[in-house]
Amino acid sequence: MLVGMQGLSTSIRAGVDRLCGLLFPPACIFCATAMPAGNGCCADCLEKIQVWPRDACHRCGEPLPVALSPGPCGRCLRKPPFQQQTVSLFTYRGPVREAILNWKLQGREGGVRWLIDTAAARLAGVVTPADLLLPVPMPLSRMRKSGQHHAADLCRMVAAHAGCRWDWRLLRRIGEQPRQSELSGLARRRNLRKAFAMDADYLAKQGPVTGRVWVVDDILTTGTTLGCAARALQQVGAPVHALSLARTPYGG
Ligand SMILES: [Zn+2]
Ligand SMILES: [Zn+2]
Repeated sequence: MLVGMQGLSTSIRAGVDRLCGLLFPPACIFCATAMPAGNGCCADCLEKIQVWPRDACHRCGEPLPVALSPGPCGRCLRKPPFQQQTVSLFTYRGPVREAILNWKLQGREGGVRWLIDTAAARLAGVVTPADLLLPVPMPLSRMRKSGQHHAADLCRMVAAHAGCRWDWRLLRRIGEQPRQSELSGLARRRNLRKAFAMDADYLAKQGPVTGRVWVVDDILTTGTTLGCAARALQQVGAPVHALSLARTPYGG
């Protein structure tokens, strides 16, 4: 009887699945085009999603010709950034850009989740379980207004994949600064030079960091934000690295 019940429940479940498939056919998570089945992304969007080039300067992450990779590039030879390594997963354009905007402006995180799941193998080769992820903090007023902290959400998702820790309290934002997107390169650096600070008291309570520290942001544009955050962490007692979900193409 139990076996029969199991069979019945399985067939009912299959029927429900079929009905759901008819009522809500699988759609592309990026463009909502209906698909026969698949992994959540249509062939058209998949073609437009660009992984950030692996042939890049290890230090700043800028793409380099294969023969010169992993650098350091000329700019890093002249003036290396504060972080030891910069990793970006995707190029900020097409479906990646739309997924991030949907997430930040409308709270729809499906596309971003798909991107992180898809980058799992890359992440596993980069972030280890001993590492600590720190979100780039945003000004308190902006966080209060939006009720969201995207870099912290990103850390949570990446940490779940890497099996590592993340902490939003160690790196603090000081004061209020204009949005980086409203400023030019030089003004960006001036704007953020004193915007971050490490909470040394909090670190003392937590104990020393044993792995590497990653400062994490959703979009890397010029690298100024992650560089200034890394600079504030020089006293953390561990190598500081930088990770972004996406990066604007070639410093643009
Ligand atoms: Zn699509
Ligand atoms: Zn470089």
